[in-house]
Amino acid sequence: MIPVTGHQSPVTAFIALGSNLRDPQAQVRSGLRALARLPQTRLVRESSLYRNPPVGFREQPDFVNAVAQIETRLAPRALLGELLAIERAHDRIRDFANAPRTLDLDIVLYGDRVVHEPGLTIPHARMEERAFVLVPLAEIAPAAVVPGRGRVGDLAAKLDATGLVRLPDTVKSDV
Ligand code: AMP
Repeated sequence: MIPVTGHQSPVTAFIALGSNLRDPQAQVRSGLRALARLPQTRLVRESSLYRNPPVGFREQPDFVNAVAQIETRLAPRALLGELLAIERAHDRIRDFANAPRTLDLDIVLYGDRVVHEPGLTIPHARMEERAFVLVPLAEIAPAAVVPGRGRVGDLAAKLDATGLVRLPDTVKSDV
């Protein structure tokens, strides 16, 4: 069972979502709805959906990515547990690194907390090099600060976002 260790006041956190299997846009929208249903958590804002060519193993379909802003009283570990449960509910099969996936959910930022624990690194380890995380994040929270690294908007502006395509708002989730 997932420990529900409540914070006294809610923390603003950002979750990156990605999918490239079985109707990726529907998977990401479903992931957003699942975030909205998490205990002690409120879905505050969501980015547009973005289409993105695969990184690493290239012989696979394009990804659809988005970032959500939540307010949560769940502690980082409990939040991670909930995200893994959402992934499992979407039948994610963990195969090999950078393999196709039905739905991937990562904690990008959790307030101004820095976490380095086995199995949990916040800010997310590779976020600075990932346009598909930083560009949607900058769309909804350009002034957010990545601890020790600077403002999201500034970090996103430094990245090469070639290949990343913002999808029309008509495909956005209706949560
Ligand atoms: P992947 O889905 O390939 O990104 O890897 C998922 C695993 O990364 C999870 O089982 C977590 O234990 C670990 N992990 C480490 N840091 C994070 C984070 N900030 N958000 C989500 N998963 C994380």
